[in-house]
Amino acid sequence: MAKVNKQERTCSFCGRYIPEDQFLITGLSGSICEDCISTIDDIVRDVHAHDKAKKREALHINVLKPHEIKKRLDDYVIGQEEAKKVLSVAVYNHYKRILQPDDNEVEIEKSNILLIGETGTGKTLLARTIAKMLDVPFCIADATVFTQAGYVGEDVESILTRLLQASDYDVDKAEYGIVFIDEIDKIARKGSENPSITRDVSGEGVQQSLLKLLEGSIVNVPPQGGRKHPEQEFIKVNTQNILFIGSGAFNNLEQIIGERMNTNAIGYNKKNRAIDKNNMLQYVSAQDIKQFGLIPELCGRFPVITSLNPLDASALKQILTQPKNALVKQYVKLFEMDGIKLSFDEAALDYIVGKAVELKLGARGLRAIVEKIMTDAMYDFPSSAKKKIAVTEAYAREHFEKSIFSFLDK
Ligand code: ADP
Repeated sequence: MAKVNKQERTCSFCGRYIPEDQFLITGLSGSICEDCISTIDDIVRDVHAHDKAKKREALHINVLKPHEIKKRLDDYVIGQEEAKKVLSVAVYNHYKRILQPDDNEVEIEKSNILLIGETGTGKTLLARTIAKMLDVPFCIADATVFTQAGYVGEDVESILTRLLQASDYDVDKAEYGIVFIDEIDKIARKGSENPSITRDVSGEGVQQSLLKLLEGSIVNVPPQGGRKHPEQEFIKVNTQNILFIGSGAFNNLEQIIGERMNTNAIGYNKKNRAIDKNNMLQYVSAQDIKQFGLIPELCGRFPVITSLNPLDASALKQILTQPKNALVKQYVKLFEMDGIKLSFDEAALDYIVGKAVELKLGARGLRAIVEKIMTDAMYDFPSSAKKKIAVTEAYAREHFEKSIFSFLDK
């Protein structure tokens, strides 16, 4: 029987003799047994987990409970109760997921959010307010500028360039940021109604590329954005913890929802439930979005879908005056800086709101209208001795009507 050389089967780490039926890995200058490998693995994992936890701590993400998030949103965003609630929960869960200890056996999946609603109803404002509240990097990307790789346009990876810019190229910070993708409905698959489109370079191809970002992968990001060049140096960004908020008006989605719900002309569905036909978007489901033309995989990456309501005159009036940075408050402050007391009477506010409704500009129009009304005063008052200006309906009408903008009205 051959003699075992004990020296050859000794673990260089624990110094034990390792019998033949156990693993002993031999390297250039020593050997290691399976027990020691397992111990070292535990140590390495602990160190990594500790490093990661420290990294997260260093980012100082301000995690707030859903009620607190909603309350803070209330300060800036009028109405949109349901969207605010859904968003508060989704954001809370997102950051809870990020901050969960690594040794957790249950991995919480990321829940990107899709916001659906007419333009100017507060979709961007909601996302921006949340990012500010949590103090994480935030960027807005317009889905319409992207094309499939190889075509004229921007690569989707340049979305992350913007996020890197928002974090001063601090990759760790960017990896916990929020990306707002506007007009995501515009990259829907073109339907059979447009047979002239043979190559859908800005539709499905872009959706496929977006999918890669949303899935949570390591992405090569061109530091200056635009189109990727092979000779360029890339920054590697892990998108696993980036929260993506998609947003769009999804024109005619109401029709798709109505058909699915089998709503009849007077607003009852098959099961005889009353349906609010004036706000069909509130019933939106992933199925409708798929039907609209987003590929199923991409829909799957937006598990949270919520809708925003159209803004009526009373909401617009509140938007003018109530939020912390309401337009009226902003103008009052601007004049105050020159020692001038500015006020708007109720009828003037109603006139502004009326114009915004009439011109179908929603909340977006309010600023343009107020700006037109106030331009003369902003030009003249700083050089005059007058210290008070009261904007009445007559004043508002006169100054708005003489502006070029009012031609839109004709
Ligand atoms: P969109 O839905 O198109 O993303 P935005 O969020 O960009 O609309 O809204 C445009 C502007 O209108 C905002 O900057 C904000 O001043 C105002 N606004 C829109 N909706 C609301 C709202 N619900 N509450 C307060 N302000 C709003």
